[in-house]
Amino acid sequence: MTTLEKGVAGKRPIDPLAARLRNAGLRVTAQRLGVLQVLKASHIHPTAEAVHRQVRKRFPKISLNTVYLNLEALTRVGETSEVWIGHDAARFEANSVPHDHAVCVRCKKIADVHDPALRRLKMPRGFAMKFDVISHRVDFFGLCKTCRVGRRRNKPRSYRGT
Ligand SMILES: [Zn+2]
Ligand SMILES: [Zn+2]
Repeated sequence: MTTLEKGVAGKRPIDPLAARLRNAGLRVTAQRLGVLQVLKASHIHPTAEAVHRQVRKRFPKISLNTVYLNLEALTRVGETSEVWIGHDAARFEANSVPHDHAVCVRCKKIADVHDPALRRLKMPRGFAMKFDVISHRVDFFGLCKTCRVGRRRNKPRSYRGT
């Protein structure tokens, strides 16, 4: 489907994102599309609060709760995913290409890791007999380049993992 394809009324071009949401059974609102667009444009796996700050530039009246509800709905239909890795707040992304993550335990930066070898990981055979895998994700924890430089001066906080 292209943006040039006409809507049912034959007047407005169909926004492919809007069409996808509608096909997934979601009501399409300007705010919902705004939330999705913010996430699609972001590569930092933002919190709902950070998404809210961005979306408010276009929709000054949108509440944080509305952003949460939209993220929940978008995640339910697979348009966004919750990258929960034990941070204080859930983090989100709208990258539909399966990938893994590198998480800085100090500044909480999350970087995408793309490696086909990680995507091919299999469960140990004994386990695979009693467990049907739907998907998997590998999280690497460590210090990013910026935080590594400051490590000597400032010891990283211990990471509790929850
Ligand atoms: Zn860092
Ligand atoms: Zn990611």
